[in-house]
Amino acid sequence: MLTGIHFLLTYACNFECDHCFLYCGPSAEGTFTIKKLVRAFEEIHRIGTIEWVYFEGGEPFLFYPLVLEGVRFARGMGLKTGVVTNAYWATSPEDAELWLAPLASLGLADLSVSDDQFHHDSEEENPAKPASKAAERLGIPVCSICIEEPTVEAGASKTQEKGEPVVGGGVMFRGRAVEKLTEGLPGRQWEEFNECPYEELDEPKRVHIDPYGHVHICQGLSMGNMDKNPLSSLVKDYRAGLHPICGPLLKGGPAQLAREYKVEHEDRYIDACHFCYLVRSKLIDKFPQYLTPKQVYGLE
Ligand code: SF4
Repeated sequence: MLTGIHFLLTYACNFECDHCFLYCGPSAEGTFTIKKLVRAFEEIHRIGTIEWVYFEGGEPFLFYPLVLEGVRFARGMGLKTGVVTNAYWATSPEDAELWLAPLASLGLADLSVSDDQFHHDSEEENPAKPASKAAERLGIPVCSICIEEPTVEAGASKTQEKGEPVVGGGVMFRGRAVEKLTEGLPGRQWEEFNECPYEELDEPKRVHIDPYGHVHICQGLSMGNMDKNPLSSLVKDYRAGLHPICGPLLKGGPAQLAREYKVEHEDRYIDACHFCYLVRSKLIDKFPQYLTPKQVYGLE
């Protein structure tokens, strides 16, 4: 049952991080308008099962009035709300409080703050610290997201052979992370990647919706477009087995996706998402309505 909607409020960001899986940055285009936001909330109401709404990006605080309005709408419908931010706006403790106080008064239930060296030069002193402290003072539950540079560790999980290297650090190898962070990292045999390790493709519990109307099951993997078909209908009519990309992924992960469409590929990949993302990139022209928008594949 779908219980969460994550608004990719904008693809724009003041940073251009190497690990970003959506290719966000200062020149990335696509931002929600208030009209689209209102329409999305009407659909959320129609779906009837949504409990949580998140605002993320890109950097949602670049469009602060939209965040405020979105949280206000959601709270008015009795939904729990969260915001994901890099905290660039927390230039001092007082300023951090100024930005967060209106959200606190609306009852924001989660502030997720990126606090790592991809976003900030120093891990000790950076805007994430005053942002988190201000949130605590204002009674907003806060958590930090810390992604580290990929590291190579000895294999330990049940899916890896003993001693085979595993890449740690929390980077998702999709989007810009594939372009920037994969060099020199060890790979594993492609046939091993026979399931999707993260998304509940069969019955998604949350989807991401973007400014172009795409309803993402995973980044760049769309259920359909809510500018063309109402979100509530897309959700109701979604059948993973009939979806040309989710069907094969569900049957046998990225390996099955590659087999089914006879996609040429290398022998080894860092992880399932790395393989999946590259296979999907080669299928964009075949399934343009499902593998979209192109910009999250670094193509526009
Ligand atoms: S990239 Fe592919 S394998 Fe990874 S979570 Fe998304 S759908 Fe699953």
